[in-house]
Amino acid sequence: MGLKKLSELNLQSHRVLLRCDLNVPIKDGVITDDGRIVASMSTIKKLVAANCSIVIVAHLGRPKGQRKSEMSLRPVAERLEKLIGTSVIFSESALGASELAMSLKPKQILLLENIRFEESETSKDDNERLKLAKELSTYADYYVGDGFGAVHRKHASVFELANLMPHAAGDLIANEVEVLEKLTKNPSRPYGVVLGGAKVSDKIGVISNLLEKVDVLAIGGGMVFTFLAAKGFSIGKSLVEVDLIETVKELITRADQIGVKLVLPEDIVVAAEFTADSAPMIVRADQIPEDMMGLDIGPNSANIFALEIKKCKTVFWNGPMGVFEFPNFANGTRVIAQALTKVDGIAVVGGGDSAAAVRKLGFADQDFGYISTGGGASLEYLEGKELPGLMALS
Ligand code: AMP
Repeated sequence: MGLKKLSELNLQSHRVLLRCDLNVPIKDGVITDDGRIVASMSTIKKLVAANCSIVIVAHLGRPKGQRKSEMSLRPVAERLEKLIGTSVIFSESALGASELAMSLKPKQILLLENIRFEESETSKDDNERLKLAKELSTYADYYVGDGFGAVHRKHASVFELANLMPHAAGDLIANEVEVLEKLTKNPSRPYGVVLGGAKVSDKIGVISNLLEKVDVLAIGGGMVFTFLAAKGFSIGKSLVEVDLIETVKELITRADQIGVKLVLPEDIVVAAEFTADSAPMIVRADQIPEDMMGLDIGPNSANIFALEIKKCKTVFWNGPMGVFEFPNFANGTRVIAQALTKVDGIAVVGGGDSAAAVRKLGFADQDFGYISTGGGASLEYLEGKELPGLMALS
């Protein structure tokens, strides 16, 4: 992918619209994981050093065109200020900020309010999105795309805006793509992929595409119960996507035919309820009681997964192995994260949520080969899809 690089634009002392992914988890007004803000700093610092006036466009959550105070980017402006060490001007609205943008002096930063408060940002109507992009394009001379977590979205500030202005990819996007290319072009072998998280439907595309490329595929999380159901096991009250059981059966057969090692858990941590204090019990994967639900992979399985991971030279992991938010069901995710830190090769943690999970469990970013900021985006890249935000920056 021939991304246009930041160094190809002469940005010195210009006005730059910078699309970032600042979609961080916020609880009661407090940012609980600022990984994505930190990951955006390299490009911001470069633009400041080049004397640019910087207008940052970003989103938070899915407000669906409504102004929702809990999805305001104001707390992000404050964190950004602390990280960069200078004041950040905040505009209460992304629209109508042209004058403010024009008044910026070199090195000044303006953060616009959540762009998804504007319905047209995510509209299915090309004209609606173009209209918004046209207004935003009056705020600056150049566009720098650095919001990797949103590049799989054909949204106004990601796609149309980039097309309207002289543009380049920021450092974060350039780094992300470089790492993902290593996973797709000639990865060092053995190559293992570990997938978890809630839904098979989110991952079915990537599983089908990667099946032909990997040596080992390990599955945990809520999605594993659709696999166990496909094997004919009863799964009690666990999460399941019944309409995907047939597809999963085909995947299991295909993996067998082409010699991919499909690793499924042999034990499961179950509980009666989906609550933090529900008593955990370990059962065999083919013996989940009717009135129980699986909330984590069992300790034996976690160890088996970890052994497989440590044998690999290339590993991609997306999605927790269990409900890691509840300490009783976090062991699988912790053991897998630990194993990733021991890989002799490249180990990539894919996704904002997986990244937040490993940080919550006490791991540091530098423990891993690479932590991607975009879950959906990295999965769609590995699926082999064309991502609108990357196309626009090519
Ligand atoms: P995703 O966004 O698809 O990566 O899913 C992440 C979510 O999956 C986390 O919030 C986990 O709590 C949840 N999850 C993982 N394992 C399970 C499980 N066995 N049952 C229900 N939810 C799960």
